[in-house]
Amino acid sequence: MNTKIKSQPTIFVIFGGTGDLNARKLAPALYNLYLEGWLPEQFALIGTGRSKLTDKEFEKRMRKDIDEFSRSGKTKDDKWEGFGPHIHYYPADVQNADTYQIFVDHIKELEDEWKAPANVIYYLAVAPNFFPVIAENLAKAGLTADADRARIVIEKPFGHDLESAKELNKLLNGIFQDKQLYLIDHYLGKETVQNIMAFRFANAIMEPLWNRNAIEHVQISVTEQLGVGDRLGYYDGSGALRDMIQNHLLQLLCTIAMEPPTNFTAEEVRNRKVDVLRAMRRFTPETVRDNTVRGQYGPGWIEGKQVPGYREEAEQQGVNPQSNTETFAAIKFFVDNWRWQGVPFYLRTGKRLHRSASVITIQFKDVPHFIFPAETAETRRQNRLVINIQPEMSIRLQVQAKRPGVDLVLNTVDMVFDYKGTYVAQAPEAYETLLLDVMLGDQTLFMRGDQVEEAWDLVMPILNSWENRISQNFPNYSADSWGPEAAEALVAKDGYHWFTIPLETKK
Ligand code: NAP
Repeated sequence: MNTKIKSQPTIFVIFGGTGDLNARKLAPALYNLYLEGWLPEQFALIGTGRSKLTDKEFEKRMRKDIDEFSRSGKTKDDKWEGFGPHIHYYPADVQNADTYQIFVDHIKELEDEWKAPANVIYYLAVAPNFFPVIAENLAKAGLTADADRARIVIEKPFGHDLESAKELNKLLNGIFQDKQLYLIDHYLGKETVQNIMAFRFANAIMEPLWNRNAIEHVQISVTEQLGVGDRLGYYDGSGALRDMIQNHLLQLLCTIAMEPPTNFTAEEVRNRKVDVLRAMRRFTPETVRDNTVRGQYGPGWIEGKQVPGYREEAEQQGVNPQSNTETFAAIKFFVDNWRWQGVPFYLRTGKRLHRSASVITIQFKDVPHFIFPAETAETRRQNRLVINIQPEMSIRLQVQAKRPGVDLVLNTVDMVFDYKGTYVAQAPEAYETLLLDVMLGDQTLFMRGDQVEEAWDLVMPILNSWENRISQNFPNYSADSWGPEAAEALVAKDGYHWFTIPLETKK
């Protein structure tokens, strides 16, 4: 989390420079940081991939991508004249150790020209099977030796299960010091997610309520309207639990459940988050059966368009048409510590659902005794704190109020902090925040190896149980629904329901 200081001279080496992640996220983020004056004068972006492109061709491609995907809209010539010359490209196969000499030479050339040493950030925007070979080849070429300047950014997925995550951690820890490692979970860079910590730890009124005495249960929903699309080949080996819950949703849970850190340093914040994961109740095969629900979407209609089911898409893409991969998961977790004992955390995520949104809802306990006549309560509802992460960015506290009038009628109203109404400036994309943090050497919003391992340890019994028991009823939800009926039952048996995902308010 940055302050307005510029980083040292910086070289960004993007492995997978010709890929989708660079096109949609990294290139626009770097360009927006440039526009807003965050990049140092001495800055270079070196893209690499197998495609044979010249510097100019790569620059042209980046500009096209930025025009298409940047929140700041189309690039303007005068701005591009300042940014474009920082871009370079080298065709290289990451598996070929010899090609890394290119980077050694180019970095030296730039440092000689700048007459200053540079921070060099190696961004691994490639398939995860390349993470080890790139790390090893960087080390062989001597590019990782300067622990103060060389940094490596690893994209998700970090491992496929606990064992592979441990292996990757071991390999990386053998090459890099902890301060060089940036394991990215872009959810942590989202404005609204960062704000949870400000909301909790910069306001005295929250803490007395933030525990089992006042909170009844917590729901975290990350829903998507889109299906898997052409990523099915990758997704089929992953599924909703690996792709979303193990990382993004558990990180959100940690942000809600963590103890107050003693200060806002990476070490402290990440220690408090890993404490949460360690305190989470582990599953047995029996508790997996009672506390988890998985689903896979069938065909249906979304906004007037007919959409195929997961298995039809799988068949079209040459993947097993009887696939057992889940596209929906709902799980009830507990955090076994003093603060949260007995408070269920219900997490759900899925594709092809009715609406796309990420929302955390904290439901408070009911009043101990309702003094008003029952008929006065038009919509009686326990207090809720609704944290809308996306697309709406807001925090709403739902309270009961008296409707104006001579009669006594109570209804639910929202006390709202809405980004649109409160701030004029557009919020930065998560990747802008995170890339700047890497440049400034701030790891607060990045995961740490031990956190990732704890999260895998937590979900492994669920993964194993699901893999061992083929689901008999897939597909079990249709497009445009809120997932399988069993997901409703998961919360209904505790006397709750999934809260309606609010429609984004237009302004
Ligand atoms: P992608 O579009 O398939 O791009 C893969 C990149 O890897 C291309 O630039 C490709 O370059 C390069 N590459 C493949 N084999 C190579 C080799 N042997 N040597 C050198 N370069 C090679 O993948 P992506 O969607 O950008 O995803 C990249 C990583 O980010 C993955 O780990 C993914 O899980 C993660 N991720 C992506 C997104 C997203 O929004 N796309 C979001 C979160 C995480 P050439 O084609 O030029 O060879």
